[in-house]
Amino acid sequence: MSGDISQLGRGLRAGLDADQAFRSIVPPIYPGTNFSFESIELRPQYDYSRSGNPTRDLLGEAVATLEGGVKGVITASGLAALTTVFAALVPANGRIVAPHDCYGGTWRLLMHLSGKGSFSVDFVDQTDEDAFRASLDRPCDLLLVETPSNPLLRLVDLRHAADLGHAAGAVVVADNTFCSPVRQRPLEFGCDVVLHSTTKFINGHSDVVGGAVVASDEQRAADLAHWANVLGVTASPLDSWLVLRGLRTIDARVRVHDANAADIVALLSGHAAVSRVHYPGLPDHPGHDIAVRQQHGFGSMISFELTGGRPAAEAFCRGLRIFDIAESLGGVESLVAHPASMTHAAMTPEAQLAAGITPGLLRLSVGIEPSVDLVTDIADGLERAASVG
Ligand SMILES: *Cc1c(COP(=O)(O)O)cnc(C)c1O
Repeated sequence: MSGDISQLGRGLRAGLDADQAFRSIVPPIYPGTNFSFESIELRPQYDYSRSGNPTRDLLGEAVATLEGGVKGVITASGLAALTTVFAALVPANGRIVAPHDCYGGTWRLLMHLSGKGSFSVDFVDQTDEDAFRASLDRPCDLLLVETPSNPLLRLVDLRHAADLGHAAGAVVVADNTFCSPVRQRPLEFGCDVVLHSTTKFINGHSDVVGGAVVASDEQRAADLAHWANVLGVTASPLDSWLVLRGLRTIDARVRVHDANAADIVALLSGHAAVSRVHYPGLPDHPGHDIAVRQQHGFGSMISFELTGGRPAAEAFCRGLRIFDIAESLGGVESLVAHPASMTHAAMTPEAQLAAGITPGLLRLSVGIEPSVDLVTDIADGLERAASVG
């Protein structure tokens, strides 16, 4: 049998076997800040590492291949990726439409920049069709979509959002951090730009903060690369090399993540201590059909509500042996977060309740430890929760 190497295979192998000097299978790191000119007439491919670096470019190529875009811009954090997108793609006095439940750091960045007059921003519940349409019935320069959302795993139809955004004249940008390109590729559904906090699934080992942006066309890719250099937010060579190393295993990791998550969802569903499970894989989840259409797999983020409220959440978390109580997600280690007091603590209790973040809500980032150990840890936690509820 013969044929081309798959898109996934090419992305996971980007930069392997490219070393001309010693045939090292993995690419070397180029930590250097500057590169010499042969003569003043001959500009080298690389001159200064803020604007371009061979190690960082390999990661950009890998992420772009996985997302099906043209060129990846690698930044020092996910928020640096968003900063680059806003600077490159929103004109003076432009207008942004963003999800009302977007990542908290994204919300803060949009509020701070709009507060300085950089642009105006409207936050909208994109799962409310009437409100979503109303937000786009006047011109918009950039539509930001984040699906699934944090922490309630609400889904937005990417194709529909891209159509609505384009009709309003917007560049449509998807934050694909929660899925990773292995589970969802927004460019295939008409989005123009996709971005990541590579801190999460793409690196996957909770040891680098980073970001990536990929455009579907050359011009936007060039604009984004230009702005990342102008702003000075490009990632370091060492971080880029580490993320490239993490990315090599993403397909294998995600398969274990998702299988473990399915086992935990089976335990949570119907358990007496649990009043509600938010997981796109469940047929009664409001976004289930969208997930089937646009995702490969339902992911390893789960949130659930304990019948016993906050005391039950405290009892659940006290005594966990594998799940660490921590923010962030997408690493090989399993984590539990209490959104009301951790990731979403900046919201008032009223705003939290309006957003569905109840005192008994917990969010899991399911890791790749043995499923049997994770299920035992959760089952013990539910027993503790039931005893106070
Ligand atoms: C973490 C995260 C970000 C921000 O990324 P950093 O790497 O922490 O700057 C943006 N969007 C989503 C969905 C995230 O989860």
